[in-house]
Amino acid sequence: MSRAFNFSAGPAMLPEAVLEQAKAEILDWQGSGMSVMEMSHRSKEFKSIAEQAEADLRDLLKIPNNYKVLFLQGGASSQFAMIPMNLLHGNNEADYFNTGVWSKKAIAEAKRYCQVNLPVDSTSNKFTTVSDTWQLNPNAAYVHYTPNETINGLEFHTIPNVGDKPLIADMSSTILSRPLDISKYGLIYAGAQKNIGPAGLTIVIIREDLADSVIPNTPTMLTYKTHIDSGSMYNTPPTYAWYIAGLVFKWIKDLGGLIEMGKRNQRKAELLYTTIDNSNFYKNPVASAYRSWMNVPFTLKNPELDKSFLAEAKEASLFTLSGHRSVGGMRASIYNAMPEEGVQALIDFMIDFEKRKG
Ligand SMILES: *Cc1c(COP(=O)(O)O)cnc(C)c1O
Repeated sequence: MSRAFNFSAGPAMLPEAVLEQAKAEILDWQGSGMSVMEMSHRSKEFKSIAEQAEADLRDLLKIPNNYKVLFLQGGASSQFAMIPMNLLHGNNEADYFNTGVWSKKAIAEAKRYCQVNLPVDSTSNKFTTVSDTWQLNPNAAYVHYTPNETINGLEFHTIPNVGDKPLIADMSSTILSRPLDISKYGLIYAGAQKNIGPAGLTIVIIREDLADSVIPNTPTMLTYKTHIDSGSMYNTPPTYAWYIAGLVFKWIKDLGGLIEMGKRNQRKAELLYTTIDNSNFYKNPVASAYRSWMNVPFTLKNPELDKSFLAEAKEASLFTLSGHRSVGGMRASIYNAMPEEGVQALIDFMIDFEKRKG
């Protein structure tokens, strides 16, 4: 069986070279006589894997020294609670941009801890664009936004200016897709299963001075300081996922780093959006300035053809193209590990399908 092009939103494709290396090392990691899965997280072998992964991530993102990198569990969804618990700093208000399904989840969780103000709310345009201006709340402890809405296919291509408020970003589906200026952020977080590695690992990059106080009764495991002080080894970290993430970081470095990654991703996205815009059969509703490079939702002119589109795509080894259950239609997730030939194969299929059924 050969590998398909998998357009899943997450867990998503991993680079083949990474899987090959993991396969070669699975029984005996570099002469250690053990699989990485079997190693103590406190062994010198695993320590070297963990430190190398962090060093490579720091190198890729040029992470300043006053930021800590945490390798946690619990998914991006746990961060929805950890952020207010750790970053309100005695305050009772926070600003959240509401630009799609994932923003809404973050907002719902934050409301359990504080008053939430929405300087940006894209509900009225069905999450297809973002207002040009926004009024921040001077009393807000921080501003949270979702740079890439994985389900709605809406992405910010510039960093919102929030003055000196700490800017917090859910980067789950866009981290490492292009260069990023970490110094503009107070904290960024990402579940690994889109652009980093296997599910089970969550990466948090936090400006260290923000981690100094929590709301009363915050559990030890939900306190950033716990993980900062222990090098993410307060308890057993997700060791195998951490190792695979390290291989992915090396893979990105080897192909030229985030500038090259960004070029590839922009080109893939442009090819697909051009195909959609040139047809009267496929449609993407997002304003062109906010179209995602990572997740491309589209609908067919006649939704009755959805089923045969998906079935025939699968025959052509193009997998997992159905849209999120909340929005329907199709969605092609084209993260870092999706090669351009996968996008081209999808485009060829779409053009042929339209010719036959349009
Ligand atoms: C996938 C995703 C999440 C949820 O991540 P989990 O790791 O499953 O909790 C949150 N935010 C965004 C933007 C996502 O794409």
